[in-house]
Amino acid sequence: MTTPSSTARLLDGKALSAQILDQLQSAVAKHQQQGGAQPGLATVLVGDDPASHIYVRHKRRACENVGIQSFHYPLEAYVGQSQLLELIQQLNEDERVHGILVQLPLPRDVDYVEQDVLAAIAPHKDADGFHPANQGALLQGQKAPIPCTPKGVMRLLAETKMELSGAHAVVVGRSNIVGKPVAMLLLEQNMTVTLCHSRTRDLAAEVRRADVVVAAVGVPELIEGDWIKPGAVVLDVGINRKADGKLVGDVEFYAAAEHAAWITPVPGGVGPMTIAMLLENTVEAAGVPL
Ligand code: NAD
Repeated sequence: MTTPSSTARLLDGKALSAQILDQLQSAVAKHQQQGGAQPGLATVLVGDDPASHIYVRHKRRACENVGIQSFHYPLEAYVGQSQLLELIQQLNEDERVHGILVQLPLPRDVDYVEQDVLAAIAPHKDADGFHPANQGALLQGQKAPIPCTPKGVMRLLAETKMELSGAHAVVVGRSNIVGKPVAMLLLEQNMTVTLCHSRTRDLAAEVRRADVVVAAVGVPELIEGDWIKPGAVVLDVGINRKADGKLVGDVEFYAAAEHAAWITPVPGGVGPMTIAMLLENTVEAAGVPL
């Protein structure tokens, strides 16, 4: 994607993720040549949500390309909690499986809560980094699997070589899977972090002060281009389909590119990084040196 008449440079997640996947493939091959085990990722998919099926298919295909063994467990939407937890327990004990991913969201109207399912995964096999122990470790700045999308955001931010310490980051969205962990990772880099959400009084004023903006809302083009401070870095996590079928982020891309120094496109920005980080978490869990 080009940014005509803009000042911004593109943070190309597609290119960066391709590089990372190449590196993972080489590391996995070398590990196996030296007698190490092949990394394995188990995907658990409950129900028949079409978008979830597509996401899981992409993740499995990426695994195969990198040399990670993929184990897939599609379950009926009405599967009970005990059956689901039993499967997770089996995967926790399966030596071929180094990472376990339960595709979210789980179907509505089930008799269990998402948090209980995520908590059943052995923390060291938690490829998504959603286990409460791993989220707690993140809060305390300890080493643990990091949620994939936030990890991908940080990797893209590192590409800018910007001095993060002391700079101001504004994160919009406070979900457990994106907004909150991104805020913690930015804080870990000694940034001053503001976490905005649906009750924030004056979102425009908050964003205008940001050296780094992370948008993780799910509202198409909510963040207006002229809110972006000149020279800021804009990382757009949002994936929204407009009525005309076009995919857009949470930021007005072209207008924001007039002000930003760096900006991620949608698609092709944060999205491909999420899969690359999932694979990286799995390869790390298998003890492959990176
Ligand atoms: P979520 O619905 O769980 O959370 C959205 C957050 O946005 C909430 O904290 C809410 O307070 C905040 N919000 C809602 N309206 C707002 C407003 N008007 N002003 C300010 N804040 C507002 O969403 P999520 O799971 O964090 O996902 C956010 C977006 O990121 C979605 O578009 C999703 O599809 C996308 N996403 C992309 C990837 C990827 O790989 N690129 C991964 C996960 C999520």
